[in-house]
Amino acid sequence: MNIILFGPPGVGKGTQADNMVKNFNLHKISTGDLLRDEIKKNTDLSKKIKSIIDKGLLVSDETISDLIVKILSKKIYFNRLIFDGYPRNLNQAKSLDLLIKKYNQKISCVLNLNIDKESIIKRVLGRLVCAKCGLTFNKYFDPPQKEKYDCNLKYLKTRSDDNKNTIKNRLKIYTNKTLPILDYYADQRILYKIDGTRKINQVYGEICDIIGSLGS
Ligand code: ADP
Repeated sequence: MNIILFGPPGVGKGTQADNMVKNFNLHKISTGDLLRDEIKKNTDLSKKIKSIIDKGLLVSDETISDLIVKILSKKIYFNRLIFDGYPRNLNQAKSLDLLIKKYNQKISCVLNLNIDKESIIKRVLGRLVCAKCGLTFNKYFDPPQKEKYDCNLKYLKTRSDDNKNTIKNRLKIYTNKTLPILDYYADQRILYKIDGTRKINQVYGEICDIIGSLGS
Protein backbone atom coordinates (compact mmCIF):
# COMPACT_ATOMS: atom_id res chain seq x y z
CA MET A 1 0.00 0.00 0.00
CA ASN A 2 1.03 3.61 -0.59
CA ILE A 3 0.21 6.08 2.19
CA ILE A 4 0.18 9.88 2.27
CA LEU A 5 1.09 11.48 5.61
CA PHE A 6 -0.54 14.88 5.60
CA GLY A 7 -0.25 17.73 8.10
CA PRO A 8 1.45 21.02 8.96
CA PRO A 9 5.19 21.41 9.61
CA GLY A 10 6.18 19.95 12.96
CA VAL A 11 3.09 17.80 13.47
CA GLY A 12 5.24 14.66 13.56
CA LYS A 13 4.88 13.22 10.06
CA GLY A 14 8.56 12.30 9.86
CA THR A 15 8.60 10.64 13.29
CA GLN A 16 5.48 8.60 12.52
CA ALA A 17 6.82 7.67 9.08
CA ASP A 18 10.03 6.36 10.67
CA ASN A 19 7.94 4.13 12.98
CA MET A 20 5.82 2.88 10.07
CA VAL A 21 8.89 2.06 7.98
CA LYS A 22 10.18 -0.20 10.77
CA ASN A 23 6.93 -2.09 11.39
CA PHE A 24 5.25 -2.32 7.98
CA ASN A 25 8.17 -2.82 5.59
CA LEU A 26 7.47 0.47 3.82
CA HIS A 27 9.78 3.19 2.46
CA LYS A 28 9.57 6.82 3.51
CA ILE A 29 9.70 9.42 0.75
CA SER A 30 10.11 12.86 2.30
CA THR A 31 10.32 15.52 -0.41
CA GLY A 32 11.92 17.81 2.21
CA ASP A 33 14.71 15.23 2.79
CA LEU A 34 15.15 14.68 -0.96
CA LEU A 35 15.49 18.44 -1.45
CA ARG A 36 18.01 18.72 1.42
CA ASP A 37 20.03 15.89 -0.24
CA GLU A 38 19.89 17.86 -3.49
CA ILE A 39 21.22 20.96 -1.66
CA LYS A 40 24.29 19.00 -0.51
CA LYS A 41 25.29 18.48 -4.19
CA ASN A 42 26.15 22.17 -4.43
CA THR A 43 24.91 22.80 -7.99
CA ASP A 44 23.07 25.81 -9.49
CA LEU A 45 19.77 24.04 -8.80
CA SER A 46 20.75 23.36 -5.19
CA LYS A 47 21.43 27.05 -4.51
CA LYS A 48 17.97 27.90 -5.87
CA ILE A 49 16.34 25.20 -3.73
CA LYS A 50 18.13 26.36 -0.57
CA SER A 51 17.03 29.95 -1.02
CA ILE A 52 13.38 28.88 -1.52
CA ILE A 53 13.39 26.56 1.50
CA ASP A 54 15.01 29.17 3.73
CA LYS A 55 12.23 31.60 2.80
CA GLY A 56 9.60 28.99 3.70
CA LEU A 57 8.20 28.92 0.14
CA LEU A 58 7.37 25.93 -2.06
CA VAL A 59 9.93 24.54 -4.48
CA SER A 60 8.62 24.35 -8.07
CA ASP A 61 6.23 21.55 -9.00
CA GLU A 62 8.57 20.51 -11.86
CA THR A 63 11.51 19.96 -9.52
CA ILE A 64 9.32 17.95 -7.15
CA SER A 65 7.79 15.91 -9.97
CA ASP A 66 11.28 14.96 -11.25
CA LEU A 67 12.17 13.66 -7.78
CA ILE A 68 8.93 11.69 -7.43
CA VAL A 69 9.13 10.05 -10.88
CA LYS A 70 12.58 8.71 -10.03
CA ILE A 71 11.12 6.97 -6.97
CA LEU A 72 7.76 5.76 -8.33
CA SER A 73 9.39 4.15 -11.34
CA LYS A 74 11.61 1.93 -9.14
CA LYS A 75 10.34 -1.64 -8.74
CA ILE A 76 11.71 -2.02 -5.20
CA TYR A 77 9.31 0.68 -3.99
CA PHE A 78 6.27 -0.73 -5.81
CA ASN A 79 3.17 0.00 -3.68
CA ARG A 80 5.30 0.39 -0.53
CA LEU A 81 5.69 4.13 -0.13
CA ILE A 82 4.89 6.59 2.63
CA PHE A 83 4.76 10.12 1.22
CA ASP A 84 5.82 12.65 3.85
CA GLY A 85 5.39 16.31 2.87
CA TYR A 86 4.03 15.52 -0.59
CA PRO A 87 1.73 16.47 -2.25
CA ARG A 88 1.72 20.06 -1.03
CA ASN A 89 -0.70 21.71 -3.46
CA LEU A 90 -3.56 20.63 -5.71
CA ASN A 91 -1.37 20.49 -8.81
CA GLN A 92 1.01 18.06 -7.06
CA ALA A 93 -1.94 15.93 -5.86
CA LYS A 94 -3.32 15.63 -9.39
CA SER A 95 0.10 14.94 -10.84
CA LEU A 96 0.66 12.21 -8.22
CA ASP A 97 -2.62 10.56 -9.21
CA LEU A 98 -1.52 10.47 -12.84
CA LEU A 99 1.86 8.98 -11.92
CA ILE A 100 0.29 6.42 -9.58
CA LYS A 101 -1.97 5.27 -12.46
CA LYS A 102 0.90 5.25 -14.93
CA TYR A 103 2.92 2.95 -12.65
CA ASN A 104 -0.10 0.73 -11.81
CA GLN A 105 -0.19 1.59 -8.14
CA LYS A 106 -2.72 2.82 -5.59
CA ILE A 107 -2.95 5.32 -2.73
CA SER A 108 -4.62 3.42 0.12
CA CYS A 109 -5.09 6.28 2.56
CA VAL A 110 -4.28 9.87 3.43
CA LEU A 111 -3.56 10.26 7.16
CA ASN A 112 -4.29 13.83 8.16
CA LEU A 113 -2.42 14.75 11.38
CA ASN A 114 -3.91 17.81 13.08
CA ILE A 115 -2.41 20.17 15.63
CA ASP A 116 -2.97 23.73 16.87
CA LYS A 117 -0.77 26.60 15.66
CA GLU A 118 0.90 27.26 19.03
CA SER A 119 2.09 23.67 19.40
CA ILE A 120 3.41 23.69 15.82
CA ILE A 121 5.68 26.61 16.61
CA LYS A 122 6.99 24.99 19.81
CA ARG A 123 7.61 21.70 18.04
CA VAL A 124 9.36 23.24 15.05
CA LEU A 125 11.61 25.45 17.20
CA GLY A 126 12.60 22.45 19.34
CA ARG A 127 13.24 20.06 16.43
CA LEU A 128 16.67 18.40 16.21
CA VAL A 129 17.71 16.28 13.23
CA CYS A 130 20.66 13.89 13.20
CA ALA A 131 22.98 14.81 10.33
CA LYS A 132 24.25 11.20 10.30
CA CYS A 133 21.21 8.89 10.56
CA GLY A 134 18.41 11.37 9.73
CA LEU A 135 16.31 10.61 12.84
CA THR A 136 14.30 13.52 14.27
CA PHE A 137 13.96 14.42 17.95
CA ASN A 138 12.64 17.36 19.93
CA LYS A 139 14.54 19.26 22.66
CA TYR A 140 11.35 19.69 24.68
CA PHE A 141 8.99 16.81 23.86
CA ASP A 142 11.08 13.92 22.55
CA PRO A 143 14.75 14.25 23.59
CA PRO A 144 17.16 11.63 22.18
CA GLN A 145 17.40 8.56 24.41
CA LYS A 146 20.06 5.83 24.35
CA GLU A 147 17.57 3.10 23.34
CA LYS A 148 16.43 5.04 20.27
CA TYR A 149 19.57 6.90 19.20
CA ASP A 150 22.98 5.38 18.38
CA CYS A 151 24.86 8.42 17.00
CA ASN A 152 26.89 11.00 18.88
CA LEU A 153 24.89 14.00 20.24
CA LYS A 154 27.16 16.35 18.26
CA TYR A 155 25.33 15.29 15.05
CA LEU A 156 22.01 16.73 16.26
CA LYS A 157 21.32 19.98 14.39
CA THR A 158 18.54 22.55 14.01
CA ARG A 159 17.34 22.89 10.40
CA SER A 160 18.06 26.27 8.78
CA ASP A 161 14.32 26.77 8.06
CA ASP A 162 13.23 25.97 11.65
CA ASN A 163 13.24 29.56 12.89
CA LYS A 164 10.54 32.02 13.93
CA ASN A 165 10.45 33.99 10.66
CA THR A 166 10.43 31.08 8.23
CA ILE A 167 7.84 29.11 10.17
CA LYS A 168 5.35 31.97 9.74
CA ASN A 169 5.65 31.69 5.93
CA ARG A 170 5.52 27.90 6.02
CA LEU A 171 2.26 28.04 7.99
CA LYS A 172 0.77 30.59 5.60
CA ILE A 173 1.62 28.40 2.61
CA TYR A 174 0.24 25.35 4.41
CA THR A 175 -3.07 27.09 5.04
CA ASN A 176 -3.42 28.62 1.57
CA LYS A 177 -1.96 25.95 -0.71
CA THR A 178 -1.73 22.62 1.11
CA LEU A 179 -4.87 22.42 3.27
CA PRO A 180 -7.23 22.79 0.28
CA ILE A 181 -6.03 19.40 -1.03
CA LEU A 182 -7.98 17.72 1.79
CA ASP A 183 -11.29 18.12 -0.09
CA TYR A 184 -9.74 16.36 -3.07
CA TYR A 185 -8.92 13.31 -0.92
CA ALA A 186 -12.18 13.47 1.05
CA ASP A 187 -14.02 13.12 -2.29
CA GLN A 188 -11.96 9.98 -2.98
CA ARG A 189 -13.00 8.63 0.49
CA ILE A 190 -9.43 7.82 1.52
CA LEU A 191 -9.00 10.57 4.12
CA TYR A 192 -8.52 9.80 7.86
CA LYS A 193 -8.29 12.51 10.52
CA ILE A 194 -5.88 11.96 13.42
CA ASP A 195 -5.32 14.13 16.52
CA GLY A 196 -1.58 14.91 16.34
CA THR A 197 -1.40 16.74 19.67
CA ARG A 198 -1.17 13.48 21.63
CA LYS A 199 1.97 11.53 22.60
CA ILE A 200 3.98 9.90 19.76
CA ASN A 201 2.93 6.36 20.81
CA GLN A 202 -0.76 7.26 21.01
CA VAL A 203 -0.73 8.79 17.53
CA TYR A 204 1.19 5.79 16.25
CA GLY A 205 -1.35 3.40 17.82
CA GLU A 206 -4.15 5.07 15.87
CA ILE A 207 -2.14 4.95 12.65
CA CYS A 208 -1.60 1.19 13.15
CA ASP A 209 -5.35 0.68 13.73
CA ILE A 210 -6.18 2.51 10.50
CA ILE A 211 -3.59 0.60 8.48
CA GLY A 212 -4.82 -2.66 10.02
CA SER A 213 -8.40 -1.87 8.95
CA LEU A 214 -7.39 -1.33 5.32
CA GLY A 215 -6.53 -4.92 4.41
CA SER A 216 -3.85 -5.37 1.76
P1 ADP B 1 8.02 20.56 7.10
O1 ADP B 1 6.99 19.52 6.77
O2 ADP B 1 8.38 20.58 8.53
O3 ADP B 1 7.68 21.90 6.52
P2 ADP B 1 9.80 19.46 5.08
O4 ADP B 1 11.12 18.88 5.32
O5 ADP B 1 8.70 18.57 4.61
O6 ADP B 1 9.41 20.19 6.44
O7 ADP B 1 9.91 20.65 4.01
C1 ADP B 1 10.86 21.69 4.14
C2 ADP B 1 10.76 22.65 2.95
O8 ADP B 1 11.04 21.94 1.72
C3 ADP B 1 9.37 23.25 2.71
O9 ADP B 1 9.13 24.39 3.51
C4 ADP B 1 9.45 23.60 1.21
O10 ADP B 1 10.22 24.75 0.98
C5 ADP B 1 10.24 22.42 0.65
N1 ADP B 1 9.34 21.31 0.20
C6 ADP B 1 9.23 20.10 0.79
N2 ADP B 1 8.33 19.33 0.13
C7 ADP B 1 7.86 20.09 -0.90
C8 ADP B 1 6.91 19.88 -1.93
N3 ADP B 1 6.23 18.73 -2.05
N4 ADP B 1 6.67 20.90 -2.81
C9 ADP B 1 7.34 22.06 -2.73
N5 ADP B 1 8.25 22.33 -1.77
C10 ADP B 1 8.52 21.36 -0.86
